[in-house]
Amino acid sequence: MPIPNGLTWSLRKIWHNREVFLQANGVDKFVQAGKFRIQKMYKFLHQVGAQVGWKRLICNSHASPKSTFIMWLAVQNILATKDRLIRWQLSIDGTCGPCQLESESLEHLFFSCSYSQEIWKQVLLSLGMTRTVLPWHEEVKIAVKKSRSKQKQAYKYSIAFIESVYCVWLQRNSKVFRDHVDPVKTIVSNIMFNVECRCQ
Ligand SMILES: [Zn+2]
Repeated sequence: MPIPNGLTWSLRKIWHNREVFLQANGVDKFVQAGKFRIQKMYKFLHQVGAQVGWKRLICNSHASPKSTFIMWLAVQNILATKDRLIRWQLSIDGTCGPCQLESESLEHLFFSCSYSQEIWKQVLLSLGMTRTVLPWHEEVKIAVKKSRSKQKQAYKYSIAFIESVYCVWLQRNSKVFRDHVDPVKTIVSNIMFNVECRCQ
């Protein structure tokens, strides 16, 4: 494929990432009146990127920006959990720090792990809900549904979910780097304090 005329430096960089042009079967899709149109390429890429179910959970989030960011990484399964680090050839112990029983993965950490499961269970109780903690993808589905609602209780629920994921991740890091985790009770009261502050 010849490089089209009139490409700016930044577009030349994009050109070198041929994948998008291969997907589009060439450059013609992005050319109008003999000129390369970035808007056309954006629309093409936007169309290629699938609509994600968790969009509202992140975009409607009233949780803290730091926790929303961790949630955004978690829903895409790109948090640096030990199973992923091992896949990147890092020579580390893959055991989950907080429970010391199973391998650390996203699904284990949220919330199959006995430590994090107790946190989420207690948070749910504080929200007036008594139910079994479900596997990660089921919990995300529930939180996404709640994030679409304008009811205060649902709004509170999604903040609590995001803050819980964040706090569990912080505790996981604390165990890795400082060999320490806080008691469940302390974490739950911190989460509920943040939830109440964010619901004011
Ligand atoms: Zn664990």
